[in-house]
Amino acid sequence: MIIMQYPNMFKPLDLGFTKLANRVIMGSMHTGLEESDKTGERLSAFYGARAEAGVGLIITGGVAPNIEGGTGIPSHAASFGRLDSDAAIPIHQKVVDAVHQHKSKILLQILHTGRYSFAPNLLAPSAIRAPISPHVPKEMSESDIEDTIEDFVNCAFRAKKAGYDGVEIMGSEGYLINQFIAKRTNQRNDEWGGSFENRIKFPIEIIRRTRAIVGKNFILMYRLSMIDLVEGGSSWEQVVALGKAVESEGVNIINTGIGWHESRVPTIAQVVPAKAWTYVTKAMKQEVDIPVVACNRINKPEQVEEILTKGEADMVSMARPFLADAQFMLKSFEGHSEQINTCIACNQACLDHVFEMKTCSCLVNPRACHESIYKKTKAKNVKKIAVVGSGPAGMSFALEAAECGHEVVLFEKEKQLGGQLNIAKKIPSKEIFEESIRYFSNLLKAQGVKIKLGQEANIENLSKGFDEVVLASGIMPRKLKIEGFANKKVLNYIDAINGAKSVGKRVAIIGAGGIGFDVAELLLHNDAKKENEEEGLLAFQKKWGIDGNWGSDGAGQKSGLAKSPSPPMPERQVFLLQRGEKFGRSLGKTTGWIHKAEMALGGVKMLGGVEYKKIDDEGLHIEINGEAQTLEVDNVVICAGQIANDELKEPLEKAGIRVHTIGGADEAGELDAKRAILQGLELAEKI
Ligand code: FAD
Ligand code: SF4
Repeated sequence: MIIMQYPNMFKPLDLGFTKLANRVIMGSMHTGLEESDKTGERLSAFYGARAEAGVGLIITGGVAPNIEGGTGIPSHAASFGRLDSDAAIPIHQKVVDAVHQHKSKILLQILHTGRYSFAPNLLAPSAIRAPISPHVPKEMSESDIEDTIEDFVNCAFRAKKAGYDGVEIMGSEGYLINQFIAKRTNQRNDEWGGSFENRIKFPIEIIRRTRAIVGKNFILMYRLSMIDLVEGGSSWEQVVALGKAVESEGVNIINTGIGWHESRVPTIAQVVPAKAWTYVTKAMKQEVDIPVVACNRINKPEQVEEILTKGEADMVSMARPFLADAQFMLKSFEGHSEQINTCIACNQACLDHVFEMKTCSCLVNPRACHESIYKKTKAKNVKKIAVVGSGPAGMSFALEAAECGHEVVLFEKEKQLGGQLNIAKKIPSKEIFEESIRYFSNLLKAQGVKIKLGQEANIENLSKGFDEVVLASGIMPRKLKIEGFANKKVLNYIDAINGAKSVGKRVAIIGAGGIGFDVAELLLHNDAKKENEEEGLLAFQKKWGIDGNWGSDGAGQKSGLAKSPSPPMPERQVFLLQRGEKFGRSLGKTTGWIHKAEMALGGVKMLGGVEYKKIDDEGLHIEINGEAQTLEVDNVVICAGQIANDELKEPLEKAGIRVHTIGGADEAGELDAKRAILQGLELAEKI
């Protein structure tokens, strides 16, 4: 008998005309397949796998009601991404069937990008360019507005024809509907602008006319922007008024929207504490009678259960956690949360890919959105394989190979699994890498991989009866060729992070790649006392300028923004240096701005175009544009890249042993855990 560990999470929700099996929603995610999957096969495999594992309700990635409302990413005719003709219905039916086959329910999200479209022919209530877009939108005429409302309604009607259980109308994140609601983007003086009542007419008309055409027994969910996090956004009173208005127009469920894409506040990245925004949903729950949904930075069943038990929301929506683990619900149901592959909120393979116009995937689970490409297959020839190194590459390979049926022995010279993830997890907000180590560790054991911790692999022990050897031995930090490299001020990044050597109050970091930024962030704050959950949330709100009490934001609005950010005092003066001029080129597309903002908040001096001359007891001597400077620092931390640690490769090959290299051992340049894990999976599939 299964003892239910998360009773509230698995409690059905009765909407009167239909019942949801549990309180978990797989939130809307644009995956890139909306445009590229011509047949619907990959989308069906993606959604079908999550439905099969028991998620109560799925919301599709945003589907445009017309061509202007799309992302602007080119797509084939009758693609999934736009439902503005009956020709697109069959591909939707296929996806709906894949979900219904497993008794889960699915809503189509209708999303009009407005001024956030990548295409140049974009439309918005007023001709005001978004700070994140190169194009100025065309101001919509009254007939554009009427046509767009009709397109929303027709899209919902087609969704019903395709068999969806309902639609989610996307009214948040700064997309078109939100652009009508906020003064910031709606400066019209006709009946669609001016007063708040006029500005909300656009969503109200969409909901009213949609309900009229789809009838009562069709789920209408509205994603309400509960906190815009931009100047000129809605006040809390206005948000509540809109919440009540959509309820009275027949919306069944209100989903939470947090922040516009152009906000100065991070909303879902690693720096955001877990459950950081449930206070917003909780406040809305006091105001309306229909179910409300909490979302953003919720990634564990324990958190879902806590939110529901405390009555902070009626349902919880998670999106990226379903990329990280298709089996999230099944493992939770069976009480095996220790086996969940937890989303680490890195954005590296999901949002970054989408913004680079690539297909979405997941750093910790490269199978996500590639289910029909990386099929789990059993090996025809079972082999005995030695894996050298238990970083992400080695752990990923070992797990996949064992699942394929191979006999795997994993050598790790350190006393713990994880490789460089053990260093990464020391960086503030990257502690979450511990979850990936926990996941791999549990699964490797469950799959019977023989783990040899504290055992350095060498030519001798690798020559003992293995059919093949996989070198996943990672990297070594690159040494810099500079006079004074042996000076006691010089530290490599591993020693600086591990605290193996103490770091003074004035520090220069050579190399502004991802690790350089991380080291800077750590050195700004690493002496601070550990915070509990509540203190962590307050510190986050202070640092980024969020007012959890909705006081005045200085512009006389109760918008949830504070007058300004008040970051903590940095513990050190940090200089971050690089040879090139443009900072942050190696940082993630959707998170680079956060790292740069953190440097600014911590008073880090960023110097580009630097020539390094020498290091001596005085400090670091540099030249910028031919001008000599001395940075009088206590320490110089070297983050100047890494080289492959593949020294076993040649002797093994000479001994006639078949060797493969993956991760850093294969190529140290541009290395990250995303590539390491993917390479591990790909090699295991073909070995
Ligand atoms: P490694 O992780 O280096 O693992 C190699 C392993 O091999 C080590 O455990 C080592 O002890 C072992 N080994 C070596 N030789 C032997 C031997 N002879 N016998 C037995 N064992 C051996 N990546 C991201 O994608 N996102 C991030 O946010 C991120 N942040 C980072 C922050 C920091 C501070 C650092 C240092 C790295 C970060 N990375 C990040 C990079 C990421 O950790 C690496 O790209 C990744 O760990 C490389 O994986 P790997 O398996 O190739 O090698
Ligand atoms: Fe989560 Fe990172 Fe995977 Fe995206 S890529 S789903 S953020 S773990």
